[in-house]
Amino acid sequence: MTALPKKNLSMPYDIVIVIILVSLMLSACGLKTVPRPLEGRADDADAIIPLDIKLENSEPKTLILIDIQNDFCPGGALAVPEGDAVVPAANRLMPVYSHVIATQDWHPAGHHSFASGHGKKPGDIVMLGNIRQILWPDHCVQGTHGAEFHPALHRQYFTHIVQKGINPEVDSYSAFFDNARLKSTGLADYLHRKGITHLDIMGLATDYCVKYSALDALDLGFQVRILLNGCRGINLQPGDTDRALSEITSAGGLIVNE
Ligand SMILES: [Zn+2]
Repeated sequence: MTALPKKNLSMPYDIVIVIILVSLMLSACGLKTVPRPLEGRADDADAIIPLDIKLENSEPKTLILIDIQNDFCPGGALAVPEGDAVVPAANRLMPVYSHVIATQDWHPAGHHSFASGHGKKPGDIVMLGNIRQILWPDHCVQGTHGAEFHPALHRQYFTHIVQKGINPEVDSYSAFFDNARLKSTGLADYLHRKGITHLDIMGLATDYCVKYSALDALDLGFQVRILLNGCRGINLQPGDTDRALSEITSAGGLIVNE
C-alpha cells in the first residue's frame, strides 16, 4: 500500500490577505449594535447620531411619547427634573416613524390622586380602593395650560392621542390601563387594528408613566424599546429611575439610546 502524499496545509499568502481585508470590511460596514448600553443624556442629545430605526425589521415603526406636557416640565405643577430636555429628542425622532402616538395625562379637577383633596402633602400615601396611591400636586387638569403638550413639541407629527387619568377615582400611569386595570384606554385595540407590534417609548416620567406603559405593553405582547435619552425620571426615592429601567429589561424590554 502506498502512502498518500502529505497535503500542504499552509495557506497561500494572497488568500490570507484577502481574508484579512474581508474581515476588516465587514467590521467597518456592518452591524451597528442596537441596543447600546445605558449611556448618554439628552444634555448632549444634539451631538448624538440618531438611532437607526430601519435596522431591525420591516414592521411599521411606532413611537409613543408619554406625557410631554407643561405640568411635567420645569415651571409646571409636577415638574420632572429636566423634563423639557426630552422635547428636542422627540422632535428629531418623530419624522422617522410611521406612527406617533402621544399620551396626555388628563385629569378632572379634584382628581383623587391630588393631595389637596385629602388634606395631605404631595408624596403622602393613601389607599384608593385597593390601590396604594402616591399623592401628587394638582396637575394636568383638563383644559388648563398645564395639561397642554409642551409648546415646542412638533404636534403635527402626532397620528393619535391617548388621554388618560380621566376617571376621578383612579390614577392612570400606563398608556394602556388605569392603575386598577378597571378600564382600558383603547390604545391596545388601536395598535392591533393598525397591525403594530413594535413600540419605541420615550417621555415623562421614566419611573412612573414610561415604566408602567412599557410593562403593560410587554405584558400585552408588544416588542418594546425605551429610548433612554428621550426620558427623564422623577426619582422621589434615589435610584427609582434605574430600578424602573431594570424592571423593564427584566420583563423583556430593551433600553436603547440615540
Ligand atoms: Zn396624573
